[in-house]
Amino acid sequence: MGPGPSDVSPRVLEALGRPTIGHLDPEFVGLMDEIKSLLHYAFQTNNELTLPVSAPGSAGMEACFVNLVSPGDTVIVCQNGVFGGRMKENVERCGGTAVMVEDEWGQPIDIAKVKAAFEQYPTAKVLAFVHAETSTGVQSDAKALCQLATDNHALSIVDTVTSVGGINVDIDGWGADAVYSGTQKCLSCVPGISPVSFGPRAVAAIQNREHKVQSWFLDMQLVMGYWGGNTKRAYHHTAPVNAMYALHESLLMLKEEGLENAWQRHQTHHDALVAGLEAMGLSMVVDKAHRLPQLNLVNLPEGADDAAVRAALLSEYSLEIGAGLGALAGKAWRIGLMGHACSKKNVVLCLSALDNVLSAQGAKINSGVAVAAALASY
Ligand SMILES: *Cc1c(COP(=O)(O)O)cnc(C)c1O
Repeated sequence: MGPGPSDVSPRVLEALGRPTIGHLDPEFVGLMDEIKSLLHYAFQTNNELTLPVSAPGSAGMEACFVNLVSPGDTVIVCQNGVFGGRMKENVERCGGTAVMVEDEWGQPIDIAKVKAAFEQYPTAKVLAFVHAETSTGVQSDAKALCQLATDNHALSIVDTVTSVGGINVDIDGWGADAVYSGTQKCLSCVPGISPVSFGPRAVAAIQNREHKVQSWFLDMQLVMGYWGGNTKRAYHHTAPVNAMYALHESLLMLKEEGLENAWQRHQTHHDALVAGLEAMGLSMVVDKAHRLPQLNLVNLPEGADDAAVRAALLSEYSLEIGAGLGALAGKAWRIGLMGHACSKKNVVLCLSALDNVLSAQGAKINSGVAVAAALASY
């Protein structure tokens, strides 16, 4: 129950262990087509250029930046946690200038500040932001931000690594231009793959580039030769065949459950977890309106030793929860309810284990009431 990788279901692990076939085998090519169509479902898009990059979420991030940012470009980057900082790094390594719009950690991106940034930098080429900030448990308004980018003739780059499968990601409804995600958060697949999707405006920008993309591996024009639909597939790199079996299975599971049902499941267990934590006397870091159901930031109670509590949860209950990051280090825990790990069983385990460990260490909590409060929430 940390901030990822989340628990991988036995079905996905079984798929991972199937015999490895060639990456140009007709059977595998058929599987690639199915993965693309399942990604269209998960991302809610018809974008033709939708495919899994053969590397983790960070590579999906980099794929978006290296393909869309050229030397001299101005990029407005929103930062309200760890991952906005990495976007800045990417812009600068592409030779662009990052204009930072900063919000406090634990707060969503302030739309008015982004508007003001566009007024100050009307020729900005890209707006980049994180939809679900895993470092703080905050959700920002992706639809409004994508609209703002479109209104200002800029492309949007959206990080949905933690969102997909946990909350609504609606690429076509938002009008998002370039979106990347990851397999190891709410998709509950093994880490190491990054689904990406580029809309028509982003594809046009890639086709009209004047400089070659500085990364050979992440150059979408080359990757398309392998993943593209119509032409004969050409060798670009050897796809991680078994990891693709696993991704296929996890996307199939999401489709079988249904997107809305998956979002509802995350919300239901989140509500129960919060009811239990609050009954225990703990408080949440993020305002209710902006909380991510899949990543719960809770303030440490008085008298709790951050590292000792997490170590006891791990050794006594095999339960992992995440430490706070940056401004929240040592002050908050990050409790994940992602994908396959988002279950009543885990909510009850987490609350009873926390109650036990905190009580044993003499922290100030209301002992013995959390599980009942969670069950009442169900
Ligand atoms: C986890 C995460 C990433 C990076 O994904 P990796 O698979 O660790 O490379 C990027 N952005 C967000 C918001 C994340 O939560």
